[in-house]
Amino acid sequence: MPKATPERSCLACREPKDKGSLLRFVLAPDRTLVPDLQQKLPGRGAYTCMKAGCVRLAVQKKQFARGFKGEVLGADAEALVKQVGERLVERIASYISLANKGAKIVSGSDQVSERLKKGEGGVLFVATDISADIGERFRGSAKAKGIPVISLFDKERMGALVGKEMRTVALVLQSGFVASISSEIEKYRNFFEEERE
Ligand SMILES: [Zn+2]
Repeated sequence: MPKATPERSCLACREPKDKGSLLRFVLAPDRTLVPDLQQKLPGRGAYTCMKAGCVRLAVQKKQFARGFKGEVLGADAEALVKQVGERLVERIASYISLANKGAKIVSGSDQVSERLKKGEGGVLFVATDISADIGERFRGSAKAKGIPVISLFDKERMGALVGKEMRTVALVLQSGFVASISSEIEKYRNFFEEERE
């Protein structure tokens, strides 16, 4: 049998899962709870599923205090969920920057339109503040070519990520970055998915 990957149980739902798929928390020296998405911070860790619902439930059931055997600061459910959500978004942003450094992104309406027409590209980012009709046009062209569309950043942020002025659209070209970005996006969506009974 292959060596088993280490498992940990979620503080909230108690389900044992592969450690790497869970959300790790550590305590700072002042006993503030810190989400450790990279699972690299020193110290003992406590885990929840990578789900907002389990983070909320763990807080509600005071499981962090139990897990860390004592008082825990910063165990506010909404603040933690927000913090984790922001970090997940930042991971997506950092892959966009990397793809840009690797010349695997085109941005700006004309360039993106041209590539989409040829069916090129793996993920299309559309600014959250793009005008509705232009947004629809790009969504339509991407959909016609089976390219997923994501809206997470505004024009200014998109521009900054690709080292330019404001950008309404940015297309990640076929490369390893597409898989990395897609997996981070999936994590982000799963995190905020409503808990199903
Ligand atoms: Zn759980």
